[in-house]
Amino acid sequence: MTDVKKLPPLQAVKGMNDILPPESARWEWLEGLMRGVLQRYGYQNVRTPIVEPTALFVRGIGEVTDIVEKEMYAFEDRADKNGQAEHLALRPEMTAGVVRAMMEHSFLRDSGRRLYYFGPMFRREKPQKGRYRQFHQMGVEALGFSGPDVDAEVILMGSRLLRELGLVQGDHFELELNCLGQPDERRAHREALIQYLQQHEDLLDEDGKRRLHSNPLRVLDTKNPALQDMANNAPRLLDFLGEASLAHFNGVRAILDAAGVSYRINPRLVRGLDYYNLTVFEWVTTRLGSQGTICGGGRYDYLIEQLGGKPSPAVGFGMGMERMLLLLEEVGTLPASPVPDAYAIIPSADGLPQVMVALEALRAAGVSVVMHPGQGGMKSQFKKADGSGARFALIFGQDELARGEVSVKPLRAEGGEQVTRSLYQIADWAGELRTA
Ligand code: ATP
Ligand code: MG
Repeated sequence: MTDVKKLPPLQAVKGMNDILPPESARWEWLEGLMRGVLQRYGYQNVRTPIVEPTALFVRGIGEVTDIVEKEMYAFEDRADKNGQAEHLALRPEMTAGVVRAMMEHSFLRDSGRRLYYFGPMFRREKPQKGRYRQFHQMGVEALGFSGPDVDAEVILMGSRLLRELGLVQGDHFELELNCLGQPDERRAHREALIQYLQQHEDLLDEDGKRRLHSNPLRVLDTKNPALQDMANNAPRLLDFLGEASLAHFNGVRAILDAAGVSYRINPRLVRGLDYYNLTVFEWVTTRLGSQGTICGGGRYDYLIEQLGGKPSPAVGFGMGMERMLLLLEEVGTLPASPVPDAYAIIPSADGLPQVMVALEALRAAGVSVVMHPGQGGMKSQFKKADGSGARFALIFGQDELARGEVSVKPLRAEGGEQVTRSLYQIADWAGELRTA
């Protein structure tokens, strides 16, 4: 390898992060805790491809959205032998993919489905704290249920998740709620809104002017501080809702009220994707600057039809894993990194097979034990044992092995005396080493 020309080192793509130990342990902890909550509500795991036809997102998310206009990683695949190339995209969100999968496998034919997923999503945004180009979501989709009971269920489930993570509503996060009504109600509101926005056209920024006619509701979603007063005084969609939409909204609210889950009605909450109707909601925090939305979702009763399926109601949400972890870190509710129960100190290669077999027996008995690789000096092995965070050192010295024993030395203050244990009855004493 000596005459290989030295190449510059390669780096990860900007905005796409490596997740390494010990941080990766936090991810595993968070995912595990979330999975436990989701399963208590009867939600089942779904995994769909990272790459989908670009058309799925254009049709699903909507052409006049930030995601499709600016953020999607879309590309043309290599041409096949007929010269045809597929237009593909890295998924910027997963609802459209889940819906496609449900349609493709006729999963909604007989009954509704309650699903959850974890996975990476891709958006070409300006990378900053809490905003990345590859980020991860945990999401749920309840398909085939018209609500409002299931709307309330997913909101209660999200609230339980946050609570079980040690977060406190009011201190660490808030829940915002709105009702977007139905397409005909939105059309009536849209006309009033366009009229209002035209009166204030000189105030609008470039995005606003462009969206005035194509997607005026999204103009209200602006984060531009100069537009806040104008947006606050705009005609409210809530005032255009008919009886059925209001009954749906009140149905959701009655359940949340009864369950003691408080919320703030935000008439300007429209969400960044086109496919929502009726209930929309976001969990927001003030602790992460302008990346304050930790989770957002809502009802999307027309998406399945829009993607070519048989009309079917649906509701769901997506939670940003990086933002959750940043918030948990900020609030200080992350658990300590897990440590092994024991670290095996092996002074000599003589008897190595016997030692490794003993370690296997310990692992079979549920003990987590790290082997010191390659033997070497005792002092450096003890240093490694200490650094591993293990609670016990297992010393497989030559004298011990000759007697069929191992020395068990507590490494932490509360650990007690060093003892010797038999290598032939490991199952009898392995419990002494296990954490819980
Ligand atoms: P924002 O307004 O912050 O751009 P969004 O409305 O685009 O969020 P959604 O499409 O609703 O976000 O995605 C659901 C969740 O995924 C968000 O609430 C957020 O926690 C997370 N998320 C979205 N985009 C990113 C990103 N680029 N980096 C990290 N997390 C993200
Ligand atoms: Mg966004």
